[in-house]
Amino acid sequence: MVRLRLILVFGLVSSSALFAPSDDILPASSTPELIVTHAEPPDYPPALHGDPRVEVRVSVEITPDGHVGAGRAETGSTFLTPYAEAAASRWTFNSTPDGPTREALITFIFAGVEEVVGPGGVVVSFDNPLTMRLRYTLSLIRWLPRTDGVLPDKRCPVHDELMRVDLIPIVYGLALMSTNKPSRRQAREAQAYFEARESLFPNTNQQFGGGCMVGVAKQAEVQYCESCRKAEEQWLAAHPDARRFL
Ligand SMILES: [Zn+2]
Repeated sequence: MVRLRLILVFGLVSSSALFAPSDDILPASSTPELIVTHAEPPDYPPALHGDPRVEVRVSVEITPDGHVGAGRAETGSTFLTPYAEAAASRWTFNSTPDGPTREALITFIFAGVEEVVGPGGVVVSFDNPLTMRLRYTLSLIRWLPRTDGVLPDKRCPVHDELMRVDLIPIVYGLALMSTNKPSRRQAREAQAYFEARESLFPNTNQQFGGGCMVGVAKQAEVQYCESCRKAEEQWLAAHPDARRFL
């Protein structure tokens, strides 16, 4: 039934007012042609809501200059509706100077979320000009940003060394704190470690905190300095008490 309706929508869009005719909608024969000139996907963050598989249909009024004057979701889900309505409001259509207000039904098909190793994003395809199919991809790896597809070189300011690239595990949640109050000596060791890290080995980048919200990404791409990692090892060998806090 849903499928049939979509086909009907597509077939009718250029020739007729589609829904609940109102006074200012012209009869089918005189409704001007409707051509999509810009279509935008919803700016929807799938990681926040799991894997939706739902259709959201947004009924829109199109002004003579081709912009969406008003839009309202007819079906959908509570959390997807605002994203679909916002996207539909940014669609544009051919202009019909001195023409009437036109109506259309834009359908967004949220076709699921896939986990991929490559970059995440949204893959958009069209079942017809007014039906946009969206497949979201979430990356299992948190990639560093690239410039024109290239990871910019980075140098360690302490060792003047070109940094290498590594994939390290992402640790979600708050750092586990010991319930025992640290002794003064232990606190001093920890403080000494953080000071040493800042000045002697700032670019070890062996741990990646993912925050409290557990995400899809399991690993993070990082740039690190080989000499920083060696310097940290040496420092920890000389300060065995500090290692216990790390
Ligand atoms: Zn370094």
